[in-house]
Amino acid sequence: MTMAARAVDVAEQAVALLDKIGVDKALYTGGEMASYSPVTGEQLAALKPDTQEAASAKIDKAARAFETWRLVPAPKRGELVRLLGEELRAVKTELGRLVSIEAGKIPSEGLGEVQEMIDICDFAVGLSRQLYGLTIATERPGHRMMETWHPLGVVGVISAFNFPVAVWAWNAALALVCGNAVVWKPSEKTPLTALASQAILQRAIARFGDAPNGLSEVLIGDRAVGAVLVDHPKVPVVSATGSTRMGRDVGPRLARRFARAILELGGNNAGIVCPSADLDMALRAIAFGAMGTAGQRCTTLRRLFVHESVYDQLVPRLKKAYANVSVGNPLESTALVGPLIDKLAFDNMQKALGEAKAHGGVVSGGERVALPYDKAYYAKPALVELPSQIGPVLEETFAPILYVMKYNDFDQVLEDHNAVGAGLSSSIFTLDLREAERFLSADGSDCGIANVNIGTSGAEIGGAFGGEKETGGGRESGSDAWKAYMRRATNTINYSRALPLAQGVSFEIE
Ligand code: NAD
Repeated sequence: MTMAARAVDVAEQAVALLDKIGVDKALYTGGEMASYSPVTGEQLAALKPDTQEAASAKIDKAARAFETWRLVPAPKRGELVRLLGEELRAVKTELGRLVSIEAGKIPSEGLGEVQEMIDICDFAVGLSRQLYGLTIATERPGHRMMETWHPLGVVGVISAFNFPVAVWAWNAALALVCGNAVVWKPSEKTPLTALASQAILQRAIARFGDAPNGLSEVLIGDRAVGAVLVDHPKVPVVSATGSTRMGRDVGPRLARRFARAILELGGNNAGIVCPSADLDMALRAIAFGAMGTAGQRCTTLRRLFVHESVYDQLVPRLKKAYANVSVGNPLESTALVGPLIDKLAFDNMQKALGEAKAHGGVVSGGERVALPYDKAYYAKPALVELPSQIGPVLEETFAPILYVMKYNDFDQVLEDHNAVGAGLSSSIFTLDLREAERFLSADGSDCGIANVNIGTSGAEIGGAFGGEKETGGGRESGSDAWKAYMRRATNTINYSRALPLAQGVSFEIE
C-alpha cells in the first residue's frame, strides 16, 4: 500500500465512523481549524471554531437549560445517564476506533477509554440515588440540622488530547446526575471524538424525551475559546485537565471571580522497586506504565528508583523489553506503542534526552522510528540510567522516557520520590509490609494516587482521581468526587416554641 493511500484511508475511516456515530458533516467540513491524525500526520477534517461570542451564547443557553434541569429529580436525571451508557455500548467499537485515529492509541486502549465512559455512567446512575446529606446533632432542643446538596450550575469542562473522551465522561456523567448543565471545550488536537461524544449524548437526550435544550454544549477551538469558559460569570465550576502550565493560567483566573476549580494537571510519577519485590510483576507493571500510550498518560511512569541489590537483575531485563517493544501504526499492526501526538512532542522528547545526556545519563532508545509517514512522529521508548535525580527528571516531558536511578536507603528514596513539583501517581513494589505501609502513610508518598505492587497508570473509575501540588489538587470520577459538582446548604429547622440561640447567647428584646 502506498503512503498516500494509507493517509487517505485514515481520513476516510474517520469520516465513515463519524457518519456511523451520527455526527453532522457540516460540523467538521469547510472550516478553518484543521484536525490531524497522529497515526499518519494527515489532515482529517476542517472544523469551524466557535467565536468568543458564539461560545458565550452556548454558555448562556446551557445556563438556561440548568434552570429546568435542576428541578428534575436526581434518579430521573440518572435515567438520562443510563441511556448515555446504553448509547455508548452501542457504538463502543466505532468510538474506540475514532479515539485510535485521533489520539493514536492502540486499539485496546481506544476501546478501554470508551469502556471507562461506560463505567462512569454506571457509577453515576447509582449515584443519582445516593446524593446523601448528613443529619447532624444540634445543641438546641426542638431543632434539627441537616445538609442538603443542590445542583450548582453550568459545569465547564476543559480536556487534554490524551484522554479525549473519558475525561469529559467522568465530568459529564457526574455533573448531569448532580443536576448541572455541561459545556465542554475539548483539546483542539482531538475535536472529532468530542463531536462524536456529543452526538451520542444527544441521542440519549432524544430518547430521554424532555431534557432542556442546551443541557450539553461543545465549544470548538483553542485556549482562547477555553478562556471564555474560564471567565464566564455563569460557570460556577471549571474542571480543567491539561498541563501545569495551563493550570497556572486557569487557576488564578477562576479564583479571581471565586469560581471553583477542579484542576487535573501534569504528573511526574515514580515507582520504587525494593529488595523484596516480585521482579516479574514489577517488570510488567513498569513496562506498561512507562511505555503504554507512548508515554502520553498523565499517570505514565517517568521515574524509577531501583534498590541496588536488585538493580542488576531488573534493569537489564527492562532494557531488553525496551529494545524489543513494537512501535507502529496502531490501526494496522499489533504494535504496543503508537505515535506521539505531533512534532512538538517529539522535539520535546529529544530535548529532554539531550539534557539527560548532559547530566551524565546513559540513553537507550529514543530515536525516531522510520515509518512511511513523513508527518507522523513515532519514537522508540527511551530508558535513561542516571546517577541522580537532576535536570529533566524533575519535570514532566510528555513522551515515553523512563529515568532509572539506583538507591540504597529507604528514607532517602522517599525524599527523592517526593522531591518534584507534581504529585499525581506513585507506586512501590515490595513484599515487605513495613515498606508498603510506610509508603502509604503520612510521611510516605505525597501523591493523590499511591499503589502497592501495581503500576502508576490505569486507575479504575470507582476511586477519586487526581493529585496534589502542581497536579492541582482536583478530584474527579469516583468516591465522593461528586461533591465538587454540587453546592451544600446547611439547614437548621426549629420545631419548638422557643428560640434558643447557639452558644448560649442571650438577646432578649422588650
Ligand atoms: P494542554 O495544557 O496543552 O491543553 C489542555 C487543554 O487546556 C486544551 O483543551 C487547551 O486548549 C486548554 N488550554 C490550554 N491553555 C489554556 C488556557 N490558558 N485557558 C483555557 N484553556 C486552556 O495539555 P495537553 O497537551 O492537551 O495534555 C497533556 C497534559 O495534560 C499533560 O501535562 C498531562 O499530564 C495532563 N493531563 C492531566 C490529567 C490529570 O488527570 N491530571 C489527565 C490527562 C492529561
